[in-house]
Amino acid sequence: MVLQQAFHRNPTQYLSRETPQEPVFFFDPARLAATAWAFLDGFPGLVTFAVKANPDRAVLEALAAAGVGAFDVASPEEMHLVHAVAPGAVLHYHNPIRALSEIAEGRRMGVTSWSVDRLSELDKLGDLSGQEIAVRLKLPVAGAVYDFGSKFGAEPERAAALLAEVVARGGTPSITFHPGTQCRDAQAWVAYIHAAARVAETAGVTLHRLNVGGGFPAHREDPAPDLTAIFNAIEQATRAAFATPPALVCEPGRAMVAECFELALLVKAATEGAIFLNDGIYGGLSEWRDLGPSARITALSPEGTPRRAPLRPLTVFGPTCDSLDRLSETVLLPGDLAEGDYLLFHACGAYSNALATRFNGYGARQIVTLAR
Ligand SMILES: *Cc1c(COP(=O)(O)O)cnc(C)c1O
Repeated sequence: MVLQQAFHRNPTQYLSRETPQEPVFFFDPARLAATAWAFLDGFPGLVTFAVKANPDRAVLEALAAAGVGAFDVASPEEMHLVHAVAPGAVLHYHNPIRALSEIAEGRRMGVTSWSVDRLSELDKLGDLSGQEIAVRLKLPVAGAVYDFGSKFGAEPERAAALLAEVVARGGTPSITFHPGTQCRDAQAWVAYIHAAARVAETAGVTLHRLNVGGGFPAHREDPAPDLTAIFNAIEQATRAAFATPPALVCEPGRAMVAECFELALLVKAATEGAIFLNDGIYGGLSEWRDLGPSARITALSPEGTPRRAPLRPLTVFGPTCDSLDRLSETVLLPGDLAEGDYLLFHACGAYSNALATRFNGYGARQIVTLAR
C-alpha cells in the first residue's frame, strides 16, 4: 500500500525540508493532465490508457478528470480500479488470454471490446453479438526496446482466418497490435498498419476499428521523443493502406504516465567507484534491467543544491542483500556526490510503483503530490 501525501511545491523543497530516509515518488497531476491532453488532442482517434503502466488511484483520477474516458484493462482487478474512480468509463479487455471466470467478470463490468489471438479463446467468449473482437496481429518488428510479439498475437495468415470467423459468428471485427514498448521509430506502427490492411483484405472484412496499441516512447534520453510525428505517421499510413480507413484507437501506457512521477532516492553510502541507494531494481527502478539506463537524473545535496562536479561513472547498488541488486552498467554521476545526497530520477511514472516489490523490507511506500 502506498501512502499518499499532499501537497508540496517541488521535490527539491520537500527533500531539503524533510530529508526522507525512505524512497519518495513525487506525483505531478498537472503534468499528467498536460500529457493526457497531448494524446487527446493529437492522436487521430480514441485514446485509452493501459492501466498496467500505473494503476495508482490518483493517476486514474487525474486521467479521468482530464477527459480520458476509456481504459485498456487486463484483469478483473484493473477493471475494479477503473470503475472505482470512473464508473462510466469504457473498458477494453485486451489481454487475449482469459479464464472463463475473468470473461464472466468482464461481462458483468460491461466490457464489449475484447482482443483475441487464437480460436480457442474466441470459443470461450461464446455469443459475440454486440461485441467488438479485435484480432491481435503480430509481426516480427525491429525498433522496440523489447518485442511484444513473443507472447501474444496471430501471424497474418492466422489473423485473417480469425477475423473471418469473428464476422461469421456475428462479432464486430477489429484488429489490434502492440508494436513493442518504447518505440522511438514511427515505422514500427506503419509496418503494422499496412499488414493489418492486408489481413483485412485477405479476410474480405471491412474493419470497424484499428487499435494501434501502446509503445509510445517516454523521454529517457535526449532528444525528447516527438509524439506528434508518430501520430501523423499513424494517420497517414492508415489513409494510405485502407480503401475505407477504420476508426483508430491507441492504448498508451508508458508515454502517458512516465513524466508524471519522479523518484527521489537517498545515497546511503558512497565509496570509491560505487554508491548504495535506498531503492533499486526490486523497487521503483525495476525497468532498468529491461530498458537500460535513463539519462535523466538530478543529483542534489541534502540542502537541495544541485551537484555540479564533472561526471564520473559509478556502480549503483540498491539496498537489498542480493548481488543482482544493481543498476545495469555504470551510471554517470557528479564527482562530488556524497552520502546523504539525493538522486532524483525523472520520468519514473511508468512500470515503477506498479512493479515495486517489498523484497528485503525495502521499496517505495510514499507518493507526495506536487501542487505547482
Ligand atoms: C502493456 C500494454 C500496453 C501499453 O504499452 P506501453 O508500451 O506501456 O505503451 C498497451 N496495450 C496492451 C495490450 C498492453 O499489453
